[in-house]
Amino acid sequence: MDKLKIGTCWLDGCSGCHMSLLDMDEGIVAVLRKADIVFGPLVDAQEWPEGVDVAVIEGAVSSQDDLKLAEAARARSKVVVALGDCAVTGNVPSMRNGIPVRTLLRRVYIEGATERPGSEPPAVPTDGVPALLKHAEPLHSAIKVDVHVPGCPPRPNAILFVLSELLEGRTPDLGSKMRFG
Ligand code: SF4
Repeated sequence: MDKLKIGTCWLDGCSGCHMSLLDMDEGIVAVLRKADIVFGPLVDAQEWPEGVDVAVIEGAVSSQDDLKLAEAARARSKVVVALGDCAVTGNVPSMRNGIPVRTLLRRVYIEGATERPGSEPPAVPTDGVPALLKHAEPLHSAIKVDVHVPGCPPRPNAILFVLSELLEGRTPDLGSKMRFG
């Protein structure tokens, strides 16, 4: 039987949810018996592939790049999992939402500049820096999400449970495994 395909990515997150994913320890062996990880920080794929069975997405949608990646993952995956409080609620990244983007960028890159290479005055970078959206939003604000896994980060056993159920074709009932923060 062909193995299923899992893709993972982080948007505006700290990678802590991916660390929790790796903390499944030997549980990951059972997952990898049934599925290959075809996209993610540990995989050298440049674009979200077609035909992914389970997309696991960490982080809020904060920039144009986040939005593009989330939309590609949704379009090319059967099931989308929002992994962790940033993806589920906006959490830490959304703390910037009360500050206009221009004010925020000016504060960080101009007023907060401590190093000024050469004689160049500090400026907001534009090359290679993804444009921020007005607000950092939870994943479900941008795309349809099938399963929400709260937690900052979610517990490894909750992630393992969700993946195991999805790989068996069942909808996970998080019940008592659910927690925020
Ligand atoms: S939910 Fe917590 S651990 Fe996960 S990306 Fe956000 S801040 Fe990091």
